[in-house]
Amino acid sequence: MIEHLINGRNVASSEVFETVNPATQEVLADVASGGELEVAQAVAAAKEAFPKWAGLPAAQRAKIMRKLGDLIAAQVPQISEMETRDTGQVIGQTKKALIPRAADNFYYFAEMCTRTDGHTYPTETHLNYTLFHPVGVCALISPWNVPFMTSTWKVAPCLAFGNTAVLKMSELSPLTAAHLGQLALEAGVPAGVLNIVHGYGRTAGESLVKHADVSAISFTGSTATGNRIIQSSGLKKFSMELGGKSPFVVFEDADLKRAMDAAIFMIFSNNGERCTAGSRILVQRSIYDQFAKEFAARASRIAVGDPMDENSIIGPMISPEHLAKVRHYIELGPTEGATLLTGGLDAPELPAHLKRGNFVRPTVFANVSNEMRIAQDEIFGPVACLIPFDDEADAIRIANDTRYGLSSYVWTQNLGRAHRVAAAVQAGMCFVNSQNVRDLRQPFGGTKASGTGREGGTWSFEVFLEAKNICVST
Ligand code: NAD
Repeated sequence: MIEHLINGRNVASSEVFETVNPATQEVLADVASGGELEVAQAVAAAKEAFPKWAGLPAAQRAKIMRKLGDLIAAQVPQISEMETRDTGQVIGQTKKALIPRAADNFYYFAEMCTRTDGHTYPTETHLNYTLFHPVGVCALISPWNVPFMTSTWKVAPCLAFGNTAVLKMSELSPLTAAHLGQLALEAGVPAGVLNIVHGYGRTAGESLVKHADVSAISFTGSTATGNRIIQSSGLKKFSMELGGKSPFVVFEDADLKRAMDAAIFMIFSNNGERCTAGSRILVQRSIYDQFAKEFAARASRIAVGDPMDENSIIGPMISPEHLAKVRHYIELGPTEGATLLTGGLDAPELPAHLKRGNFVRPTVFANVSNEMRIAQDEIFGPVACLIPFDDEADAIRIANDTRYGLSSYVWTQNLGRAHRVAAAVQAGMCFVNSQNVRDLRQPFGGTKASGTGREGGTWSFEVFLEAKNICVST
């Protein structure tokens, strides 16, 4: 049984839900399903723990954060297996990238919290300077894709800067964060500083964001939920990391081998369940046919299979409902006029133990025009849309013709064009001749319907610290 973590103790609820392995439909655990009551208890515990935790010297908090990073780093194989079973993200990715990144988040913000230096603005008559203070109790809400990394991306800065937290994981993937709670206690995080309430969005999530004693909300999830939270939470600090439909633009002068590798990676890794997926692949018309042919051939060879197998590249979708959504778009593509190059609705060939899993073939559509719903809606699965463009202006127009603005990718060997397109694209991030490479100092986040606020490095100050200006007459 997975229970809540409230004030350092495991707490049950009268109701439970099951978390299920999406590759096999095997029930992994019963999970306590919290609501208003559990949220109230968790927020009260966080509120009580706040003054003492915030009052600790930053170096002491940093030491605890580093210890927590060490505990995670020492358990990468176990946590990776847990995450893979709970989410269907393939073990190669969880073990090599996603879980080690979680340890790095704690190491990084342990360092950062000792450097919350402000600014000075002297005049002839006055000296202004800024101080940063923790904001208090923070609501941290995570989605089901890469849940351990995403939750630590929030918990690490939140706690390191002296705040206390109530973390709510997705009801579809609660296992690893529950484990994080136990590791935090082991590392010396005092009771009440990190609380975890499991449950559904409409119950636990909504109670949490509405709670009057919550000062800040760091939310990662869909645009629809983000909008709902903004409307229901009242006046709070918030950061919203929402959905995406990011353009991956390939000009005819690009290094096509590298561009192809990156394009494949950016739509098919993490099962395509990735907010920064390069899901609209814009290819210059002169190279479009050849690119599409090779891209589809590569996609058709991608190994779909048991996420616990090191050789698998694509595992199952998180839930039957999400699989149905992805399949709906695969069905929709041809009716909108797109050409199915590979993939489609036939189930991939799988061994008997995976027959009930939520698997789908990597799918590639060509001759996609940007108005189609498959090009406008976030599918959040391994479905690539190849869209032709004529020239630089056309590429920018298509790239920006979307409600989203999270990430973007530009491939060209023309330096001037690279800078022009990177500047013109409406997105929070642009990677030039590169796949998405994270540096924890980067501002991470999106514009338009992809969210508001940035996290990472000093950008996390915005969410987790309150700046105060002090003006002294001299
Ligand atoms: P979701 O919005 O359905 O759920 C996210 C979290 O919000 C879950 O914990 C859920 O229980 C909770 N929730 C739901 N309704 C709520 C409410 N009314 N009040 C408070 N909490 C509520 O998203 P999902 O399906 O879990 O995740 C996929 C989405 O997340 C995709 O759109 C993806 O692009 C996005 N995402 C964005 C980023 C980013 O950094 N921009 C990263 C990962 C995922």
